[in-house]
Amino acid sequence: MLKAGPSQEEIRQHNLGTLLRHVHLGGPVSRTVLADRMGLNRSTIMALTSELTSAGLVREELPKETGRAGRPSLVVRPESDRVYVLAFDVAVDRLVAARVGLGGKILDRREAVRARAGADLDDVVEVLAGLARRIHREAAPDSICVGVGAAYCGMIRPGDGMVRFGPNMGWVDQAFGAELGLRLGLGLPVSVGNEAHLGALAEHERGVGIGFANLVYLHGDVGVGGGIIVGGKLLDGDGGYGCELGHMIVNPYNGRPCGCGSRGCLEAEVGEQALLDAAGRASELVGHDGIRAVVDAAGRGDLAAQNALDRIGDWLGIGVANLINLFNPGLVIFGGMLRDIYRGSADQVHRRVAANGLVISREKVQLRTSVLGNDVTLIGAAELAFSEILARPLEVLARTTS
Ligand SMILES: [Zn+2]
Repeated sequence: MLKAGPSQEEIRQHNLGTLLRHVHLGGPVSRTVLADRMGLNRSTIMALTSELTSAGLVREELPKETGRAGRPSLVVRPESDRVYVLAFDVAVDRLVAARVGLGGKILDRREAVRARAGADLDDVVEVLAGLARRIHREAAPDSICVGVGAAYCGMIRPGDGMVRFGPNMGWVDQAFGAELGLRLGLGLPVSVGNEAHLGALAEHERGVGIGFANLVYLHGDVGVGGGIIVGGKLLDGDGGYGCELGHMIVNPYNGRPCGCGSRGCLEAEVGEQALLDAAGRASELVGHDGIRAVVDAAGRGDLAAQNALDRIGDWLGIGVANLINLFNPGLVIFGGMLRDIYRGSADQVHRRVAANGLVISREKVQLRTSVLGNDVTLIGAAELAFSEILARPLEVLARTTS
């Protein structure tokens, strides 16, 4: 028996989502270019854009300057001020909330300090909900929140946003997604993702990783997280807990103890504490400021800081060489605090990759720092929040506004 293909309606829904995704990720674009990119004829594109326009998701405008004779193709823009998501980022030292418009524009962003005070679910949820209330008060009355996403620095159960393990703050099985959803009281579920998975997706869709189907993202925030994109998709593993690159064992015999209970993990050897200890600065600044102080001192010729970065760079290079041999990525990205560590130890990292990476595996790989800066994981959380409306625009919009 012949298997039934997708119905006309399914194709239409799929095309609406694809078109909205092009406008969301690529910015204002003409109908002609959309027709080219989607391989559809102009009348189909016109029908799709007029549906999205009446739904209030995009608007169409004449281009400002065409420089050409004849009737110009209308430009389709996302309704960035009207349609938005709430995005949250829970890092070790800070809590961030933002309203992010369709198209990826950060419209309002608020930040609070998070004390390193152990299991603090109630505090975290309360602070985030407070920031969100202030953000909501400033939003235009006719604007619509179409999703909520959060990045958390730990291992996250897909589906309900349970934090199974967050080693730096001692979180074990904390119902973060559900609690935040209740406290926000918007009637919308909160999608939660691991911060480094979301950082990888953000760099892949909006950052230095655009156009790379295979990349490795390493994120430093006290510890080290990771996200690996293979064939354009995040490698999430059987339970969603994949890519814990920070807990790859690089130094099992003489290694430093790790927050996960093991010894000699990559994050134990290259994380914040390892660098501060190696530089003899453990009692001074911590967090991103502490890391920057070491990298800056090394740049000014401070020998202890230079030696510390060489040591950390060596371990980082061992980790990167292993990842290159395993995944043959086109790009390795250093984000979060690892941006600064990589800047201060790039020579050492390259030496290790040259010594330990397979020649064929590394012949084309590029090593770069993240371009989305301190908001990389927040931007990833926003993309997670947008994923539903981009998959089924009219259906999700109807549900949100009903
Ligand atoms: Zn570990």
